[in-house]
Amino acid sequence: MTTTRRVTLARRPTGTATPDHFVIEDVELDDLEPGQVRVAVEYISVDAGTRTMLRGEGFHMQVGIGETILAGGVGRVIESAAEGWEAGQAVTGGFGAQTVATVPAAHLVRVDDSLGPLSLHLGLLGGSSGVTAWIGIREVAKPQPGDDFVVSAAAGAVGSIAGQIAQRDGARVIGIAGGPDKVRHLIDTLGFEAAIDYKNDDVGARLKELCPDGVNGFFDNVGGPILDAVLDNIAMHARVTICGAISQYDDMDDITGPSMYLRLAERQSRMEGFAFFHFPQSIEPAMRELAEWADDGSIVMTEHVLEGIDRYPEAIQFMFEGGNIGKLLVSTV
Ligand code: NAP
Repeated sequence: MTTTRRVTLARRPTGTATPDHFVIEDVELDDLEPGQVRVAVEYISVDAGTRTMLRGEGFHMQVGIGETILAGGVGRVIESAAEGWEAGQAVTGGFGAQTVATVPAAHLVRVDDSLGPLSLHLGLLGGSSGVTAWIGIREVAKPQPGDDFVVSAAAGAVGSIAGQIAQRDGARVIGIAGGPDKVRHLIDTLGFEAAIDYKNDDVGARLKELCPDGVNGFFDNVGGPILDAVLDNIAMHARVTICGAISQYDDMDDITGPSMYLRLAERQSRMEGFAFFHFPQSIEPAMRELAEWADDGSIVMTEHVLEGIDRYPEAIQFMFEGGNIGKLLVSTV
């Protein structure tokens, strides 16, 4: 291959990131330098956090104007100038939104392609998806058997796995997601106890019906009014885990904070946030257990693939409009 086709940032979005914020271009590849490896990328991860990388400042790494969009990927080595790396090896890494990545070998992680399709390493076994869910549940939320445990963005990559792990740990899981198809998916496919359609239901009223004694645990991916509705319905000694706040990412200069936080004091409860990379020692055990569950078929991670690199510019908008069920990916072909 002599070129890579890549997606770069044309201008910074205010509000929703739409296709006109991106440019697609073909770029000539230079010869490899010693220690470098060339990877044909097969799948690119689409993550809610990518939106926060387009602002120009913030907690996450930032994408400059004209630079390739930062994204995790999985693919195979096609050319190597690094000892120990052969063509054909399946690898994952931060390859960016492009078809061919040229990276130092030190930045690559070998993946076991006998576990299933390569996309598994961005979804169920991906750091910012299944592994985040495992760490958030096992290290932070720690649901107890019999807990009424609520998950928001429950049909997405992190939420669907977080809910299933909480369920395995004995909690009664209630998912919150947008639309009747997602509600059906949560109950029929993932086996959650109940689901709330926040686009059509009164979330607070439904929580009162479903959890009359209050919510013991909440794993929040959304923030804003949904966080408030759940805070208003927590039980005594509840644990609220802040994994993310996708409802706020389009306008981080004007965050809607929780107005119901005094329920934490009234009900002797706590709220704690985390990022998966705060628990580096937990990444390997998380991947091992998630791989076991993938192998015995006891966990479900649906994938939603937009086909072709040219569809990447629409992917973030698609996610923020709730188009995906499970892990959202862009395939390069
Ligand atoms: P995802 O859940 O697969 O997709 C995002 C979903 O969020 C959409 O499908 C949509 O579903 C929902 N959503 C979008 N806008 C919303 C809004 N305004 N209000 C309510 N729901 C909205 O995405 P993901 O990449 O797995 O990320 C999920 C969360 O995990 C994000 O908050 C992300 O920042 C967080 N995260 C945290 C870490 C960490 O280390 N703490 C790591 C990775 C990801 P609906 O149809 O249900 O609206």
